[in-house]
Amino acid sequence: MTAPVAQLERVSRLYPGGVHALHKVSLTIERGDLVAIAGPSGSGKSTLLNLLGTLDAPSSGIVRIDGQDVSTLSDNQTAALRARAIGFVFQQFHLAPGASALDNVADGLLYSGVRLCERRRRAAEALEQVGLADRALHRPHELSGGQKQRVAIARAVVGEPVLLLADEPTGALDSASGALVVQLLRDLNAAGSTVAVITHDRDLAASLPRRIHVRDGRLDTEVPA
Ligand code: ADP
Ligand code: MG
Repeated sequence: MTAPVAQLERVSRLYPGGVHALHKVSLTIERGDLVAIAGPSGSGKSTLLNLLGTLDAPSSGIVRIDGQDVSTLSDNQTAALRARAIGFVFQQFHLAPGASALDNVADGLLYSGVRLCERRRRAAEALEQVGLADRALHRPHELSGGQKQRVAIARAVVGEPVLLLADEPTGALDSASGALVVQLLRDLNAAGSTVAVITHDRDLAASLPRRIHVRDGRLDTEVPA
C-alpha cells in the first residue's frame, strides 16, 4: 500500500505574537487528488500550504509527506524531501528575470543531480506539455502573465513531484489567462499529478472535484460527490 501524498494529524500553528493560524487540523491528500483549499483572506490557507510544502513546521501535530514524518528529518533531509516531492507555484510566478523560459524550467531540476544538458532536455519537454515550446528562449519580460504562470508550472512539475502546491495561481491573472492555468492544472491531474490549489476564488474552488474550506484556522471538509 502506498502512503498518502500528504497527511496532517491535529496540526496547529501558533505564530510568535500569539496568532493561532491553524487549530488541530487533520487532512489527508491522496494520490491523484485535485483539491481546492478555499477560504477568506487571513483564514490560514498559506500557513497550511507552507506546512504541506515543508517550508514551515507545526507548533504541534504531525505532518507526513509521502509517508515521512517531517519532524524526524534533519534540515538537509527536509530540503531533499522538498526538492524531490513538492512542486510550488505562487501567485507572483517567481521566475528569474534574466533567464530564458527553458532555463527557468531547468532550474526545477537543480537539486536532482541531473546534468545541465539533461535538465534542459527535460525542461523542453515540460514547456511543450504546458503549450509553450515556441517560447523556450523568451525571457519572462517577453511573456504575458498567463504564459509566465505556465512556465512556473512547468518548472514545478519538471521533477515529477508527488504533490503540486499552487498558492493563488490565478490571483495575478485576468480571467481568460486564469482559466487556461486552471485547465492546465486539470490536464496535469488527469495525467497523474496530485494537485492542491489554494484560492479565495469561490468559482474556481467550486469547479474542482474536492474542496476543503478553511475558516479561522479550522477546516470543514467536503468529500467528493
Ligand atoms: P491566508 O493565506 O488564508 O490569507 P495566512 O495563512 O497567510 O492566511 O494567515 C493566517 C493568519 O496568520 C493571519 O491572521 C495572518 O495575519 C497570520 N500570520 C501569517 N503569517 C504570519 C507570520 N509569519 N507571523 C505572524 N502572523 C502570521
Ligand atoms: Mg495566502
